[in-house]
Amino acid sequence: MSKKISVLGSTGSIGTQALEVCEKHGFDVIAVAAHSSIKLLAEQVRRYKPEYACVFNEDKYAEFKALVSDTDTEVLCGMEGLCRLAALDEADIILNSVVGMVGLLPTLTAIGAGKDVALANKETLVAGGELVMGLAREKGVNIYPVDSEHSAIFQCLQGNKRSQLSKIILTASGGPFYGRTYDELKKVTKADALKHPNWSMGNKITIDSATLMNKGLEFIEAKWLFDLEPEQIEIVVHRQSVVHSAVEYNDFSVIAQLGVPDMKIPIQYALLYPDRLECPTNRLSLTDYGTLTFGRPDYETFKCLSAAIKAVKLGGAYPCLVNSANEEAVGMFLNDKISFIEIGEIVSSVTDKFDRFGINCYDDVMRADKMAREYVRNLVLKG
Ligand code: MN
Repeated sequence: MSKKISVLGSTGSIGTQALEVCEKHGFDVIAVAAHSSIKLLAEQVRRYKPEYACVFNEDKYAEFKALVSDTDTEVLCGMEGLCRLAALDEADIILNSVVGMVGLLPTLTAIGAGKDVALANKETLVAGGELVMGLAREKGVNIYPVDSEHSAIFQCLQGNKRSQLSKIILTASGGPFYGRTYDELKKVTKADALKHPNWSMGNKITIDSATLMNKGLEFIEAKWLFDLEPEQIEIVVHRQSVVHSAVEYNDFSVIAQLGVPDMKIPIQYALLYPDRLECPTNRLSLTDYGTLTFGRPDYETFKCLSAAIKAVKLGGAYPCLVNSANEEAVGMFLNDKISFIEIGEIVSSVTDKFDRFGINCYDDVMRADKMAREYVRNLVLKG
């Protein structure tokens, strides 16, 4: 089939798995881009021979350029480079697996250029959901979710009438601290928080999984992707991460998507849609699992989760504010500046600190982002 793909965030967990899927199915990788992992990016240039490679961190540009100077790949840098790769004429699909708010502008650029997007960047929809979905409708562009839960929902929608959906069931692994009390969470260390029971992921999302902020962000994403009211989204803790999510229809029939917890399955579905070809992973054996369990999330202990849901119910810039405050707080936790529970305390204080304002353009998102980060920095500096 030889689809031409541009991979933004190619050295991360999703990016490297996506390249594996691309290789298996004979995709033509025409662009790769990384934040600052230039050694791996250079290896990817040699292996996939893309037309373009971009390093986001401009300080690494000269060093990276030297690393691949003997190749035919054109080297770009910064947000300008990333956005160019998001809108390449010759690309059939853009995979956006960039981490954080940085991913929003490339998504908007890709959609603006009429490119289908396989979306793994959560912040794109959390911070800019209204903008992104509005532009996608206007341009007639498809957004294929890469996240396992949203891919599951997307798969459960196939062949059914969207108008007859009653609700979705968003499953959550519960993270490494499921069942712990608030007092127990006070003693959690960085090493504890970086150990996820089922999925192997980058640091930011692993911490978000431990605080359950990840599920909060996914709740907001689902609202935008599938045009739902918050009341139509139920979160269910499912420790085994085998049922990746489900959809309930008006006849109370519930359709779920299952598989081993391996991101290559949803990545491949987003890239090959609507085809289903053999995936480089393992088959699911239900009898090996034996038991699947389902429970309620603890909204009081995991404050980030309730803060995210509250933010999306309040609307306007609140989801963006909460997301940016979380991004800043997680960075501080990873740099040993704050404790684990302080992430939740900071994030849940955001909705009370700011008056409501709307998001009408990209600059509004950036303004909210800056406000939230400054708020968190001041809060932590003052102790
Ligand atoms: Mn997920």
